Amino acid sequence: MLPEIENLLKLQDVDKEIRRLQDEIAELPKRVAAIEQKLAGTKAQLEKAQSSVKADEAARRKFETNINDLRGKISKYRDQSLDVKTNDQYKALLHEIQFTEKEIGANEDKILELMVNADSRDKEVKAAQAELKLETAEIEKEKEQARQRTAEDEKLLADARSKRDELRQGVREDLLRHYERVSKFRGSGISEVRDQKCMGCQVMMRPQTYNDVRSGKEIVFCDSCQRVLYFNPAEELVEQKPTLHRAKRHHPKIDAPQAWYYRPEFGNAGEVFVCLHNAAGQATRRVYEIHTGRLIGDILTREGDYRQAFPEDITGAIRLNGDWAEEELDAWGAEAPMVVLDSLYADLEAARREMSARVSKPQAVPSEQAAG
Ligand SMILES: [Zn+2]
Repeated sequence: MLPEIENLLKLQDVDKEIRRLQDEIAELPKRVAAIEQKLAGTKAQLEKAQSSVKADEAARRKFETNINDLRGKISKYRDQSLDVKTNDQYKALLHEIQFTEKEIGANEDKILELMVNADSRDKEVKAAQAELKLETAEIEKEKEQARQRTAEDEKLLADARSKRDELRQGVREDLLRHYERVSKFRGSGISEVRDQKCMGCQVMMRPQTYNDVRSGKEIVFCDSCQRVLYFNPAEELVEQKPTLHRAKRHHPKIDAPQAWYYRPEFGNAGEVFVCLHNAAGQATRRVYEIHTGRLIGDILTREGDYRQAFPEDITGAIRLNGDWAEEELDAWGAEAPMVVLDSLYADLEAARREMSARVSKPQAVPSEQAAG
């Protein structure tokens, strides 16, 4: 990977961290405001409960006054009854007294009702008071936490900003400007390439662009979103790991007319895929650079089976699954297609996993036998 790409990736991480911190700092007062609003709600509830208590007390006083008035009326009727002359007059007064007594009873009922209510009103007030106390303590704690968090974030933000300034020094100016312009409009300025796709905009790229990115020798931009592109073989391999659980690796046949091998080193070319092919008593050898698929050197042809013809290429190499018709190999010309490279790459990873599993196996075998 180009050092400038590495710097841009680090820069992108720092930029993300800066945005996260800025968002968090902006978010904290909103959280405090939300709690304060809840507190105001509890206060209003308490006030409502308290004013209900007051209204009940006023009503009770009113009923008590009514009862006093009505009792006064009755004693007046009793005084009058001493002076009545006729039976009818007496009966009428008695009726008035009975009626007034009923009214007293009705007022007394209402007072009783208020007294019963008073209990639950009292509970409401006490609950609201307790709630308010709790929330007040909570908000003080939250406010203090928010203050501390903000102070920490401000410090981290200052660190991140100075780190960003430092990283910006490690990227040439025109590339940096390009990265920052795209970042501003798209939220990120650099994007990984996977399966011939820009992961930033999900658009498929031309094979030539893909090869340029994979070779990691120059800075390449996405044609559709303008992000700086990079390729990370490790990430691609991580993506393929689930196949580990899906299926057991298919093993290459020992007597197959075509055999593919992976070699970690091949002259000055580094990692290569070697394709050996038997046909009509002759063996041919093709060597491809594993990232770009570039054909290295000439296609060699020797007499006999490839095992006898090219033993030096097989020794220490990893055998891979792969079988393409010779016409196809010829049609590729100087560059193996990416699908071929990807397939060989995936099998190489499966083979490596298999090898590492084999190394750790001896501990697992005895317990399997014991279970069986
Ligand atoms: Zn793109």
